Amino acid sequence: LPVVAIVGRPNVGKSTLVNRIIGRREAVVEDVPGVTRDRVSYPALWNGRRFMVTDTGGWEPDAKGLQQSISEQAELAMRTADLIVLVVDATVGATTTDEAVARALRRSKTPVLLAANKVDSERVEADAATLWSLGLGEPHMISASHGRGTADLLDLILEELPETPRERFVAGGPRRIALLGKPNVGKSSLLNRLAGEERSVVDDVAGTTVDPVDEIIELDGRLWQFVDTAGLRRKVRTATGHEYYASLRTRSALDSSELALLLIDASQTITEQDLRVLSMIIDSGRALVVVFNKWDLVDEDRRYDLDKEIDRELARVPWARRINISAETGRSVQKLVPVMEQALASWDKRVPTGRLNSWLKDIVAANPPPARGGRAPRVMFATQAATRPPTFVLFTTGFLEAGYRRFVERKLREEFDFTGSPVRVNVRVRE
Ligand code: GDP
Repeated sequence: LPVVAIVGRPNVGKSTLVNRIIGRREAVVEDVPGVTRDRVSYPALWNGRRFMVTDTGGWEPDAKGLQQSISEQAELAMRTADLIVLVVDATVGATTTDEAVARALRRSKTPVLLAANKVDSERVEADAATLWSLGLGEPHMISASHGRGTADLLDLILEELPETPRERFVAGGPRRIALLGKPNVGKSSLLNRLAGEERSVVDDVAGTTVDPVDEIIELDGRLWQFVDTAGLRRKVRTATGHEYYASLRTRSALDSSELALLLIDASQTITEQDLRVLSMIIDSGRALVVVFNKWDLVDEDRRYDLDKEIDRELARVPWARRINISAETGRSVQKLVPVMEQALASWDKRVPTGRLNSWLKDIVAANPPPARGGRAPRVMFATQAATRPPTFVLFTTGFLEAGYRRFVERKLREEFDFTGSPVRVNVRVRE
């Protein structure tokens, strides 16, 4: 579905507007500093059209971090949304922060609507007119809390909103990589190392949609698009400590990528934060390569501990290859590309139905599903319903236990090799 992002300073009424749009009647859930909300996108329906609304205001910074957090919001909106609504408080007028956001949004290719909120009286109407100065066209006067003007705004949103969401993948284009990991694991160091001195950055690759925050690098004779690397190259980094935006960014980077490179600092104990990123990667269904960085700092004692931590913490992704590198010294960095290629090949892999079923017949004959209570279910046949990631459907006469599905997944991996990619096994019961 196409995505509408609502951006703006704290307290301009973003959440109220979102609630209006999605038709939620109960009291607005106010944004609480430091509280991470799970959901930032909500399905909406207007005049029979469905779309998603993203509220980017879940994290309200202190005064010092305001400017920065707003630009994060705007940047995120520009790369993920199909239309942006900038909400400004008409009773206050355009602040320098509003001006900064407007400047950024004017450069974006995404259509932008300006909403002048809190227009509850004629006097405020006059104030709202001054918002033309933001250079985003007509300020559309609304009162989100009273509902005034919001229907007109919604009509406009639908007029401007493309029918289909923006293209994320282009066949034959560069493979899209998300470089992920907690702050200071060495993401920028690795990116710089990979790009090398000459910065073989390509801006204009035929048939691709390159966000300004992406970087295209040629490695081993082919192009790789590292998504959402804004801030990774710059020495002054943005928003490192801001958990909420960090997780939004991670999710958005995963959305627009095919493979995740998860960086973990090998010299330090694996932390909750590492595992949170890992969980997001697993949920996304992307291909995965686990990169242990700072290997130059790993001595024998640390290595011993690390092995145990890996056994414990990475047991969920036994299929992911691990590489030990040092972005600092360049050690083993050249090994990355073949492993990424392998993971993506697995992610794209399709097993012909004939081959799949002749294999399945043998597997099931040798290890039939266990009976639960009454009769044992029969596995009749299978198809690969999807790639990216490979997704299989088993047609059965009854419920298959999770243990048996895992068994089938293991056997699938042994036979067809899906190293580096998740594999999904679904069951459909035929009566
Ligand atoms: P980011 O926050 O993930 O982008 O991390 P940076 O690339 O900024 O790295 C954080 C710090 O770790 C910097 O001081 C780097 O110089 C250092 N660093 C990065 N990679 C390595 C490595 O392989 N070995 C060592 N010893 N230090 C590293």
